[in-house]
Amino acid sequence: MNGEELQSKTSRAAEIIAGSDHLMAFTGAGISAESGVPTYRGPDGLWNKYDPGETATLSAFKDQPEKFWQFIKDMMVDREIEPNPAHLILAEWEQSGLLQGIITQNIDLLHQRAGSECVFELHGSLGEASCYDCGRDYSWGWLEDILDRDDIPSCQNCGGSRIKPDVVFFGEMLPGDILRRAEEEAVKSDVMIVIGSSLAVHPAASLPLRARDTGAELIYLNADRGEMPEIFDVILQGSAGEIMEKLAQEIDRI
Ligand code: NAD
Ligand code: ZN
Repeated sequence: MNGEELQSKTSRAAEIIAGSDHLMAFTGAGISAESGVPTYRGPDGLWNKYDPGETATLSAFKDQPEKFWQFIKDMMVDREIEPNPAHLILAEWEQSGLLQGIITQNIDLLHQRAGSECVFELHGSLGEASCYDCGRDYSWGWLEDILDRDDIPSCQNCGGSRIKPDVVFFGEMLPGDILRRAEEEAVKSDVMIVIGSSLAVHPAASLPLRARDTGAELIYLNADRGEMPEIFDVILQGSAGEIMEKLAQEIDRI
């Protein structure tokens, strides 16, 4: 996409967003890429390094929790993970009343750390956990307390080593109430901006389709054009943080 084309598409997206009554954002791993969190798919994706069946299924976790923790450390640690402009602008839009909420597939807590309050975490998050063996709940700061250590966390109640973060593993159901509320918001929305998601993982990816089927205009901000370019009214191809800054400036001018 050349500079002129991007400029005119950004202006078009800004008009749509500024004129919205119920704007929702739908985000995926790509929005956190500029914060240093690798995506799962793509050339630097974590699935090139890890076998999802051996790391992100419940049975793999039960047998080898240390493999899962290695994967999470690789995803989050040794990097200064901070919200980037895309997270921060979404939080500002919510505070100013422009954005109603965010439906996210991410587990990295960056939306909340940026200041967003209405966040539907379809795949759970690393913020809370419970012991798989005795059920004891843990809600301390996983990212700070756990990821800096060399060992894996063990349960203070039963001594077991299977403390499971509240993330949805492959083969697990999505949290039903969150999915239902996110779907209600998708149906209510008249504009949805999808940021940094390949839309390959279902049922999460069905929510933008649901929004479109019930009349919403869809904007896609992604590094590539994705697999369903035909469902979008405007496609902004590029980096989430960079383009969100341009978009926010355009909206401020309207
Ligand atoms: P995905 O890896 O399938 O797709 C990411 C998309 O983002 C790709 O289309 C890619 O082209 C795009 N992208 C990469 N860098 C970008 C950038 N700087 N700006 C804009 N777009 C960029 O991720 P997904 O669609 O979220 O779905 C996969 C699953 O991955 C989800 O289940 C999610 O739970 C999980 N996941 C979460 C995190 C996280 O919490 N940050 C990280 C990796 C994967
Ligand atoms: Zn326990």
